[in-house]
Parts: sequence; C-alpha cells; structure tokens
Amino acid sequence: MIRFDVVVIGAGPAGLSAAYKLASSGIKVAVVEKGEYPGSKNVMGGVLYLSPLKKLISETIVDEMLQANVVERNVIEQNMWFLSDDGVIKAGHRNEKWKTSPNAFTVLRAKFDNWFAKKVEKTGALIISKTKVEDFIWENDEIIGVKTSRPKGEIYCKAVVIAEGVNPILTLKAGLRKRDITPKMAAIAVKEIIPMSTERINDIFGVGNENEGATIEIIGSWSKGMMGIGFLYSNKDSISLGAGVLIEDLKQNNKFTPYELLQNLKEHPAISELLGENKNSANEYMAHLIPEGGYYSMPRLYDNRILVVGDAGMMVNSIHREGSNHAITSGMLAGETLVDAFEKGDFSRKFLKKYYLKLRDSFIIKDLKKYKDLTSIMEKNHQFFEIYPSLLNDAAYRFLNVDGTPKWEMQKEIFEMFRKRRGLIGMTIDALKMWKGVRG
Ligand SMILES: Cc1cc2nc3c(=O)[nH]c(=O)nc-3n(C[C@H](O)[C@H](O)[C@H](O)COP(=O)(O)OP(=O)(O)OC[C@H]3O[C@@H](n4cnc5c(N)ncnc54)[C@H](O)[C@@H]3O)c2cc1C
Repeated sequence: MIRFDVVVIGAGPAGLSAAYKLASSGIKVAVVEKGEYPGSKNVMGGVLYLSPLKKLISETIVDEMLQANVVERNVIEQNMWFLSDDGVIKAGHRNEKWKTSPNAFTVLRAKFDNWFAKKVEKTGALIISKTKVEDFIWENDEIIGVKTSRPKGEIYCKAVVIAEGVNPILTLKAGLRKRDITPKMAAIAVKEIIPMSTERINDIFGVGNENEGATIEIIGSWSKGMMGIGFLYSNKDSISLGAGVLIEDLKQNNKFTPYELLQNLKEHPAISELLGENKNSANEYMAHLIPEGGYYSMPRLYDNRILVVGDAGMMVNSIHREGSNHAITSGMLAGETLVDAFEKGDFSRKFLKKYYLKLRDSFIIKDLKKYKDLTSIMEKNHQFFEIYPSLLNDAAYRFLNVDGTPKWEMQKEIFEMFRKRRGLIGMTIDALKMWKGVRG
C-alpha cells in the first residue's frame, strides 16, 4: 500500500506552493500531475507577481529565477488600450523603481512550472507526472486517499489538497461544490506565442534591453461588445498575444468563435502594424478557461482532511489580472494549516477551518469580496466594452483633429456626441454601476 502524509492534486502554482511548504516542514508529500510534466498543459498570459514567491521561498528567489533563466522579462511598464474600429486610446504607467525592485516577470508556464516543480522536489516532495487523480478513496464519509490512473494506483494519505485548476471535477466529487461552474463563471481564453527578434520586441515595447518588458491589456471593438480582455506581453524572443471572453457572452452572441475574436484583435490596425510580418507566424496556440465568477462562485474550501487552493477555489481577480499570486498564496496558507494539523494530529473540518480564516485575513478574500458584483455588472452592461471605448476614441479624434473649429465648439460637439450615444441619465447610471462594482 502506497502511503503519503499528504497528496496534492495538480502541479500548477497552487499545488506546488502547498507541496513546497509541506515538504520543507518535513511532511511526506506526493504531487500528482496529469500532464506529461508540470506546466506542459498550463496556460497563463502570463504576468507572474513576485511577492508571494518571496514569502513562500525567500527574497533571493528573484536572483535565482534570473540565473536559472526561467523568467522572460521584468515588467517595468503596464498599459491599458481602449480600441475603436479605427483608433486607440493608450494609458499606462512605467516606473524606474521596477527596474531595481522587480514587481512581476512575464513567464511561459511550461518553463516556469517545470522549474518550480524541480525546486519542490529538492525539498523532498515526490512529483508523479503523467498520472491523473480519478477519484477519492472514502472511509466512514472521510477521504483517506486517491485513486489514480495508474494500475494499482491508490495512494493513501492523511490529507488531500485539491489544486486541479478551474475545471472542478474532483471538487465536485469531494462534495465541496454542489453544482458545476456555469458559463457566467468562466471566460475562455485563446493565446498565441509569436516568435520575434529581441530587437523588434525592444522597439515595440519601448524598452532598452532583453531583460525589460511591458504589458498591454486591450478592451474595445475586437470583442464585438462581449465582456472580454485581450493582452500582449513581451517575452525574451517572442510575444504572448491572447483574448479571453466570458463564455455566457459567447453563448448568447453565438456568432464568433474565440479564435475569430483573436483574429479580430490581430486585424485591428494598431495591433496589426505592431505585429507586422510576424502576425501569422505563431508557433504555439493554446486555449484555457479563466475563473470569472469571483467570490460568489467559490466552493467550500475545507472539510475533514481536505483543502481547496488556487483556481479550483475560483480565486482569480480578473480586474487586476491576478490569479497566479492567489494560487501561490492560497497554496502556501493551505500548507501552513496542514503543518499545524500534523503537529496537533487534528485533520477535522473544525481545525482545517483555520485555512479559510487565513484566506479571509489575507488580500485574497478581501479583494474577491471587494469585486464580488463587478463581473455580473460588466456582463449585463456591454456598453463598457463597446460604446465607451468607441466614444472615447471619437472624442479624442475630434479634439485632436485641428480643422479651424474653435475649442468651445469642439467641446460642445463632444458633449453632444456623448449625450446622443449614451444619454445623460445613461451615463450617470453607468458611473453609479461602475462605482458600485469597484467600491465593494
Ligand atoms: C489566458 C490566461 C491568462 C492568464 N494571465 C494571468 C496573468 O497574467 N497573471 C496571473 O497572475 N494569472 C493569470 N492567469 C490565471 C492563472 O493562470 C491561474 O490563476 C493560475 O494558473 C492558477 O493556478 P492553479 O495551480 O490553481 O491552477 P493551474 O495552473 O490550472 O494548475 C492545475 C494543475 O492541475 C493539473 N490537474 C488537473 N486535474 C488533475 C487531475 N485530476 N489529476 C492530476 N492533475 C490534475 C493540471 O494539469 C494543472 O497542472 C491567466 C489564466 C489564463 C487562462
């Protein structure tokens, strides 16, 4: 009989962080991963925030990652673009402080997760790849192990950490979620990795060398009024280009596939010119779900002998493009809770509630609660993705197009434009809705 102290299901950032914490505290951990190797199937934009990794491992982790060449570029500038059919409004922030004190790196998950998994193995955890957890082993209504896809692949344990990502198959089987996630609770994202010379990437993103990078998030005309966000991130010698749309919107609209929406994004003049001759030369193409349901869509995160971490717990703050940091932090907090549980010899639901309390005191639940209504507000109010980006572009064009019209007249024309297309009452209500969504 194979026996471990803890089985972690899934070697994404959440599962690996839980395993790191547990194994480095002397607990015998097996991480079961269905992919060929950790990261082989995982998708992210991806901006990896550094503060949770520093807390989990150490401050020196940044230098270690740079030396191991597992990160792409240090994000020194973050941008938001608003597209109309023929224009773009660009807003962004660059800071010299990020050059000396990095906040986030762009990463490619196949490389990053694999490196992280090796680091976890060095603490004593066993990573079992190419193996799927298919079900649990139960005794007296309690989980006492997992059944895997390997012949005689039962693994017995004192506790299980579910880190299976957004698709909640085992969370459902454990009874922690009553119903499957709905199309309102997830976006489908498609992503391409487009190879490009380092010099061209430096030019496009306006950075001085291959270690510095920038990010661009993009909303507006490309998503055809659906709730969606595009992204363009700089890697060392490639760029990551992607588009994600709420599944409910795709279902209602029923006219576009996610790939067609990505094509729309690529065909926009501002993006098309930027990509130039590389536009159609992607060498990797991938698709993945992103949790969007936020606070209301979270399953129960603990029960006797079991904890749920990362995307499996729907811990994504998509407004701020934060998911990997929630995954790492929740994995670490789950690990800490189980270390205490081993000390006390108590794996009961009552004891493991400590994990939920730690999450509640952290930024994770505080932020998810703050934005708990925003997704449903955005989903019901497509003007934020269609009318406003277009109006902002038209207003900027009118104001900046010098044709001899006095500025007072221009301002009146712009005001009239907003009044006609959205109405004063409409704009006031929209401002209140947005305020309600972000105020928390
Ligand atoms: C297109 C896209 C862009 C994103 N961009 C960003 C970004 O820029 N910044 C950011 O912070 N976040 C971003 N996110 C979110 C981020 O990727 C996730 O929040 C994060 O990866 C969650 O980590 P996780 O470990 O919980 O899940 P995952 O990374 O999904 O890992 C789950 C793991 O479990 C394995 N698994 C699943 N079921 C089983 C099973 N039954 N048996 C064995 N193994 C199993 C999977 O193979 C996988 O390795 C993005 C997500 C997407 C899809």
